Amino acid sequence: MGRAFVYVILGGGVAAGYAALEFTKKGVSPGELCIISEESVAPYERPALSKGFLLPEAPARLPSFHTCVGLNEERLTTKWYNEHGIELVLGTRVKSVDVKRKTLLTATGETISYKILVVATGARALKLEEFGVNVLEAENVCYLRDLADASKLVNVMQSCVGGNAVVIGGGYIGMECAASLVINKINVTMVFPEDHCMPRLFTTKIADYYEDYYKGKGVKFVKGTVLTSFEFDSSGKVTAVNLKDGTRVPADLVVVGIGIRPNTSLFEGQLSIEKGGIKVNGKMQASNSSVYAVGDVAAFPVKLFGEIRRLEHVDSARRTARHAVNAIVEPEKTDDFDYLPFFYSRVFGLSWQFYGDNAGEIVHFGDYSGKSFGAYWVKDGLLVGSFLEGGNKEEYEALAKATRLKPSVENLTDLENKGLSFSVEI
Ligand code: FAD
Repeated sequence: MGRAFVYVILGGGVAAGYAALEFTKKGVSPGELCIISEESVAPYERPALSKGFLLPEAPARLPSFHTCVGLNEERLTTKWYNEHGIELVLGTRVKSVDVKRKTLLTATGETISYKILVVATGARALKLEEFGVNVLEAENVCYLRDLADASKLVNVMQSCVGGNAVVIGGGYIGMECAASLVINKINVTMVFPEDHCMPRLFTTKIADYYEDYYKGKGVKFVKGTVLTSFEFDSSGKVTAVNLKDGTRVPADLVVVGIGIRPNTSLFEGQLSIEKGGIKVNGKMQASNSSVYAVGDVAAFPVKLFGEIRRLEHVDSARRTARHAVNAIVEPEKTDDFDYLPFFYSRVFGLSWQFYGDNAGEIVHFGDYSGKSFGAYWVKDGLLVGSFLEGGNKEEYEALAKATRLKPSVENLTDLENKGLSFSVEI
């Protein structure tokens, strides 16, 4: 016989922390809620790992960035969970789940049963081995998904100040790590197969701005090619990377950010899967009605676009978590989730925000040689997405509001001329 809870949250990341806070706000009783996490610490704000955590001076360290400080809410330390009677089962991987029997089996052999399961298993970093590159567990090849990865990266970084780093991948992780490495006085070469950075979101014009900025900080870009092999020294450390185009880049440190894969494997064959994630309805409820999914692992209907989407961003993790808890505890008072996708990043002194969908025609605006510029995406005559670098709070709020309203755009040149004022005036 194992333990039994009313609510179990599987996973202990961003979504889990925000769900726990919401459960207490809704009056969950001590002993009713359990969080099971493979990580050995209470939920924390994962984005800090590629930002404050990597700073050479006064780096962010736990407990300072436990959830839910990201939305200026309470900071939930282990003590907080204890005080609220929430069982934190840390350092424990769940090996299997039986959604019919409503039980989970942990790697330690315990069976835990639930009435309602909230799946918040997030995603894992894709590994080079999955692309046929042999890494041999090299001590200076780093990924960045959890605290253990970030601690390893800090150690390697500190051992090679003044040396060379190769960053594989031009997405979020690659861009943010490259900036942190530069701040740590390490020479950076970025390598990615696309023709510009952040290819899933940025237009060429936007990407050019950031690449030029990075070049100004000494970052080199090798684009349109991929890594084929590493060179190792006799101790098994990587000393250089070889690229498909024949380039050889010396390396004291390699950071790999080549994408993520949602952690759905426990549920394959048991729940409907879509877009790589657990398919849920507007209440975040999966195809088995006792199971809810939130955060990176959930594929949910985005009302605004009339489509199921799976988002890999912190704001969506926080808000899907809150919504699921509301739908679980107060189903009659909870409408379908109505979400405006929102992502952001901060690198060096730069900071951008994006709202909505990057689909349709693109209208750039503002001063691309200055500090504030942006872009709109217009689809079927409606403004559906917006991007702004260097805005202030009011400007970002205006952008979010305008994008949610999906106003019609009759003339793209007018929109370009109006730029940010189009949103501010709405
Ligand atoms: P996670 O936070 O990944 O949590 C998943 C949890 O589930 C983990 O604790 C994991 O150990 C646990 N787990 C998984 N499987 C099991 C199992 N079988 N048994 C037990 N536990 C399990 N987003 C932005 O919008 N802006 C940013 O600037 C930004 N920066 C980021 C920087 C980094 C370095 C990273 C890694 C991500 C960043 N993100 C950013 C993305 C954001 O952090 C994620 O979208 C968010 O963490 C998703 O929350 P989640 O709870 O769904 O998953």
